[in-house]
Amino acid sequence: MTTAIYPGSFDPVTNGHLDIIRRAAKIADVLIVAVLNNPSKTSMFTVEERVEMLRETTKDIENVRVDSFSGLTVDYARKEHAVCMVRGLRAVTDFDYELQLSQTNKVLAPEVDTVFLATDLKYAYLSSSVVKEAAGFGGDISGFVPSYVQKKVLDKLAK
Ligand code: ADP
Repeated sequence: MTTAIYPGSFDPVTNGHLDIIRRAAKIADVLIVAVLNNPSKTSMFTVEERVEMLRETTKDIENVRVDSFSGLTVDYARKEHAVCMVRGLRAVTDFDYELQLSQTNKVLAPEVDTVFLATDLKYAYLSSSVVKEAAGFGGDISGFVPSYVQKKVLDKLAK
């Protein structure tokens, strides 16, 4: 069994993330979507809320599991016996950071590789920040996130 992990903030999960999840789940036997608990980063949703939204929106994909973790991603990958970490690439702006991150991780854990999936062109502009900004100014985010997540974002902003 090949286990892959897809780590990230997912604050909140977008249609771009879900596209990567569906595609990665076809490649790995088991895909663990892992929400990083990073207290130094301010987020709209708690880790529990992010995990719950991911579980709801990926429940139709049989080999996907959603979890959260703290600390180094490579330590979590080792604990789960993952052979690789999946990351999505949108544009060259992602490339520098992602390359450096993957090289650092390779030094820390040579047995865990990083696999990059190029975004579907439909989602190349899309990020969790875009969703939060657009929604914050009253924009329609129905094309950016599943309706379940849209409702959670609007509820959060109403509070
Ligand atoms: P992080 O804080 O780790 O960058 P994100 O939740 O923003 O977490 O993203 C997790 C991963 O998903 C990253 O590899 C990111 O490049 C990728 N990603 C985010 N949005 C998209 C998208 N629209 N298309 C493809 N990959 C994406």
